[in-house]
Amino acid sequence: MDGAFDYIIVGAGSAGSVLAERFATAGKRVLVLEAGGSDRRFFVQMPLGYGKTFYDQRVNWGYRTEPDPGLNGQRDYWPRGKILGGSSSINAMVWVRGHADDYADWQQATGRSDWGWEAALAGYRQIEDCADGGDHWRGQGGPLHIRSNKAHAHPLVAPFLQACEAAGLPRTPDFNGAQQEGAGIYQLTIKGGRRNSAARAFLRPALATRRVALRTGAQVTRVLIEGRRATGVEYQWKGKAQRALGGEVILAGGAINTPQLLMLSGIGPARMLRDQGIEVRLDQPNVGAHLNDHQGINYTYRMTVPTLNQILRPWWGKARVGLQYLLTGGGPLGVSINHAGGFFKTDPALERPNMQLYFQAFSTLIPRGETRPVLTPDPFPGLSIGLSNCRPSSRGSVELASPDPLAPPRIHGNVFSTPQDVDEMLAAVKMLRRIAEQAPLKTLIAEELRPGPQVAGDDALVEDFRQRSGTVFHPSCTARMGRDPASSVVDGDLRVHGIDGLRVCDAAAFPTLIGGNTNAPAILIGWLGAQRILATAPAAG
Ligand SMILES: Cc1cc2nc3c(=O)[nH]c(=O)nc-3n(C[C@H](O)[C@H](O)[C@H](O)COP(=O)(O)OP(=O)(O)OC[C@H]3O[C@@H](n4cnc5c(N)ncnc54)[C@H](O)[C@@H]3O)c2cc1C
Repeated sequence: MDGAFDYIIVGAGSAGSVLAERFATAGKRVLVLEAGGSDRRFFVQMPLGYGKTFYDQRVNWGYRTEPDPGLNGQRDYWPRGKILGGSSSINAMVWVRGHADDYADWQQATGRSDWGWEAALAGYRQIEDCADGGDHWRGQGGPLHIRSNKAHAHPLVAPFLQACEAAGLPRTPDFNGAQQEGAGIYQLTIKGGRRNSAARAFLRPALATRRVALRTGAQVTRVLIEGRRATGVEYQWKGKAQRALGGEVILAGGAINTPQLLMLSGIGPARMLRDQGIEVRLDQPNVGAHLNDHQGINYTYRMTVPTLNQILRPWWGKARVGLQYLLTGGGPLGVSINHAGGFFKTDPALERPNMQLYFQAFSTLIPRGETRPVLTPDPFPGLSIGLSNCRPSSRGSVELASPDPLAPPRIHGNVFSTPQDVDEMLAAVKMLRRIAEQAPLKTLIAEELRPGPQVAGDDALVEDFRQRSGTVFHPSCTARMGRDPASSVVDGDLRVHGIDGLRVCDAAAFPTLIGGNTNAPAILIGWLGAQRILATAPAAG
């Protein structure tokens, strides 16, 4: 494997799959090393199989955070894809780019228009193949098919959207179009009834060029560094240590694994590395710092009309929708759990929406241990409306727990650790209740089950979201891009400051967290990142 490749990509997730496709199209030779296995699994391909992969250790790193004071000392569960396609193979498939001004933040942080909104818009239009057609905002004919959930939305979506309007949140036709703010129907990365992961849209076409070699079950354990230059990687494959040498090394292992791998390779906070007995190659305190993630909470209602609970719970309902899915690729199993949603401001003086809404036409109040019972929901008609913050000011961190590369890192979520994050979530849950109190949704709600009407008053509402909220799976910024090595890990061309031949290109490299779901920006960083990488040979060692 030595010297045969221009690039070694660590991780075939959202960003890594795009990099492989872009490099192969540019005629480069690429080695992709992926710790997980094949994505040719029924519950990965079937969109609502999401509920099955959520805890499945065969396809999921399944991390636990450290006890978090912001969550009353509880440990949160953080799923991450360990499979071809990475987290795009186990995610909820919502396609949201974020707000245009989020990319102005990227430009500001990097000092480069390459990462500004104009560049992002051009990138997204090239990436997308929108079923509804292209226009100034949207792309058509690109590698990633995206379709609106319009034709498949549950009947309760209409009263939900009307209630949002009555609560002061008007309809927006496209969260990725002219206006993000408003309520509307989500767009999904689903094609022909199957999940359209980054593996399907980018990696498979890349492999077809025959310029990409892929190893699955290959977990990279260390970047090999001589002096100040990365020379290759060491990885575990079939129980043995292997090496791949030559070519530039690009880390695309995601926001948890990428900083862990940098630290295992001697790049990170010097004291932490020494404590773990790791030789320090570069003292870089920003590795694993600045962890930024969206925190969410669901409010659950008993309804007076049937919801998906009545179809997905009984055996005969499962059999019916199973058959429907197998015969047509459609029905409730062929869509995301999130049918609709919205973006709103908790304070009209804000320039961008700071909260996201999720509408789910089922409920899962009754826990079933280590499963997310999407496919076996509650025995009564239930509905969930979820919320998550867009740009929390709390910051967590990823640290090495052990020098053993196969041991999980230590994750400090540190959520709701600023008064600002608590205050805006408090305002947001009040807005959620206001929506539920509007006709016509109100007339369809029998009662609020969780938290329940007895939870009233600011202190009780805050206590409730500290007790019940959790990640919405968007960790980012742990090896962030920026112009200054004192506050960032990689430069505007994604090169690790101070080490030649090594780059980071995944959600870890986001300069700031985007106000929306993070698959789209992870795919974008792969797309624009490939342009930057191809345009800039590694600095001479
Ligand atoms: C349950 C869940 C639901 C989500 N829902 C949505 C949604 O609806 N919409 C949305 O936009 N976003 C969603 N997200 C988030 C989104 O999918 C991620 O932000 C995005 O996929 C991250 O891309 P990435 O390239 O940074 O990392 P990933 O896609 O996670 O890829 C990293 C890859 O690297 C591999 N890897 C890691 N370490 C190593 C190593 N040492 N050696 C070899 N390989 C390695 C991993 O196995 C993985 O395949 C969700 C995420 C989860 C987990």
